[in-house]
Amino acid sequence: METKDLMEKAVRFHGHICPGLAMGVLAAKYVLEHGSKYSHDEELVVVVENDNCSVDALQVILGTTYGKGNLIHNDYGKNNYNFYDRNNKKAVKLALKASIFKNKKLTRDEKIQILMNSKPEDIFNIYDIKFDPPGMAESEDSSPCEICGELTMSSRLMFYNDSDICVPCYKKLRSE
Ligand SMILES: [Zn+2]
Ligand SMILES: [Zn+2]
Repeated sequence: METKDLMEKAVRFHGHICPGLAMGVLAAKYVLEHGSKYSHDEELVVVVENDNCSVDALQVILGTTYGKGNLIHNDYGKNNYNFYDRNNKKAVKLALKASIFKNKKLTRDEKIQILMNSKPEDIFNIYDIKFDPPGMAESEDSSPCEICGELTMSSRLMFYNDSDICVPCYKKLRSE
């Protein structure tokens, strides 16, 4: 699978070309070249440690999406990607190398060019990690909030003043 073709697919989804997207493309490419496939359900899970442009490449190329629940975000501000494949029980972590672009004054286009000509191994430190994926996404009943009436997942309702209420209503009551 050519980086260029993957990039085209990613750009159609993401809306523009940028260094972050190229990083995500390379992470996705690595995973596809090491025994994992596009995930129609939750066979593949990724735990990302940032919410930048790169994540969109993973969503469209690997099918690890926010809506399916097989994209999990830890807000650590790191370009790290932890992949868990339930088909082959393998887990791998890709962590962006600190040396990338170091001490170089590069334009955005130059960065994109460098990334497009890199192999995943050039820009990521890659480790096997323990296969302990997050649990499967669960569907859950909803009931109306007793203040605003909007349907709310049961696990997100809060019991306050003898009523089951949603988080925004709870926050509003507490701030009054
Ligand atoms: Zn972008
Ligand atoms: Zn409410």
